[in-house]
Amino acid sequence: MKGLTDKPDYIIEILEGGVTLEDVIDGHIGNQTLAGKRAFVVADLGAMMQQHVCWQSIVPQLQPYYPVKCNSSPAVIEVLASLGLGFVCTSKTEMSLVLEHGVPPENIIFSGVCKQLAHIKYAAKNNIQHLVCENEAELSKIARLHPSSKLLLQLTTEAHAAETSMAFGTSLKSCRHLLEAAKELGIQVVGVTFHIPSSCQDLQQAYTHALSDARCVFDMGIDLGFNMRFLDIGGGFTGSEFQLKQVDSAVRPLLDAYFPPLSGVQVLAQPGTFYVASTFTLAVNVIGKKVAPHHWDSLGQENTEFLYYVNEGVYGPFSCKLLGNSIAAPSVHKHVLSADEAVYPSSLWGPSLDHLDQVVERCLLPELSVGDWLLFSNMGAYGLDNITCLSSSSQLPVYYTISTSNWYEMQEAGVALDSAVKNF
Ligand SMILES: *Cc1c(COP(=O)(O)O)cnc(C)c1O
Repeated sequence: MKGLTDKPDYIIEILEGGVTLEDVIDGHIGNQTLAGKRAFVVADLGAMMQQHVCWQSIVPQLQPYYPVKCNSSPAVIEVLASLGLGFVCTSKTEMSLVLEHGVPPENIIFSGVCKQLAHIKYAAKNNIQHLVCENEAELSKIARLHPSSKLLLQLTTEAHAAETSMAFGTSLKSCRHLLEAAKELGIQVVGVTFHIPSSCQDLQQAYTHALSDARCVFDMGIDLGFNMRFLDIGGGFTGSEFQLKQVDSAVRPLLDAYFPPLSGVQVLAQPGTFYVASTFTLAVNVIGKKVAPHHWDSLGQENTEFLYYVNEGVYGPFSCKLLGNSIAAPSVHKHVLSADEAVYPSSLWGPSLDHLDQVVERCLLPELSVGDWLLFSNMGAYGLDNITCLSSSSQLPVYYTISTSNWYEMQEAGVALDSAVKNF
């Protein structure tokens, strides 16, 4: 990782006069020599701005706190910080990154099931007071190293537990115990946090349970004399406007019932994927091709199936595949599929020749040639950060862009970016 005191070294290209993101991608592909067809990333910061506008119009009552673990690119942090978002950090590195962008410590939450002692001390020293806590061992560490902290208790939800297949958060039962222990240690508890992942099948039920549990914890806390005033409903927003409306319609009546505005409780959420997924597009090059051993389908027809190798894989920007997420099929650069064109079952593999390095298991693509480019959209969440630590290749180039209209919209919203801006 670069020294954190370095100025952000990214450049944003403003796209004027109808220049599109596709034109930018074309330009970068055109610039690559035959020998060095290196994968690259294009970021449309305007997409992030539009997500912010969408968030504010649909759920203005939910204060967004961006989880840095989702994508810590400097441009992302800078834009979101100047839009006034709060931040959720899970390490000292993340806290210092966010503090460097001028985010006030009171807008930072230090989260994570298990925190390193040095990181707790760092939070204390830098006046970051909001810490998430879910068990007694953590509580005693925090009491020792950061006695003036204000805790949010992490409540478990069935949906989250199912996804991580690991106990996460504290049950309602053990909450009273944790509250009493905090009381005894003289640590303030100021609220509750929980997380329902977007993979959850029954949003209504999950939020109903989580919010009624949260209400119970608030009541227990108030009983013990705590000033309970923060409720954090976590992440799990896919990025689609439709899904945000679905979550809103599940959550809003419950909030009205359990945490009405008059209660004075501030309601937060942690939209990570929502803000950044659609902002980043990854372009990779086809470096190898094989015809799979022949298959016969159920009708006895012979099917041609292709295997393609591309120049980045799960040990690079597709790392979220290793965590069990699937990667959506790419589009083929400069290829408009005609109605009568044949498509073939295809699988996409990374360059490592390792059996785990499968990027897309099966998708339908026209027949590709070595040297073709594939574009993966929606690549902004969980993965791009890992380029530096996991992949043996050096960091992929990231080209930041924004359309003129989004640029003006950002200026009006008060975003002043430090980085150089150049016209494309
Ligand atoms: C990762 C994480 C989030 C962010 O989730 P998204 O679905 O990316 O918005 C929120 N809360 C917790 C506890 C998390 O671990």
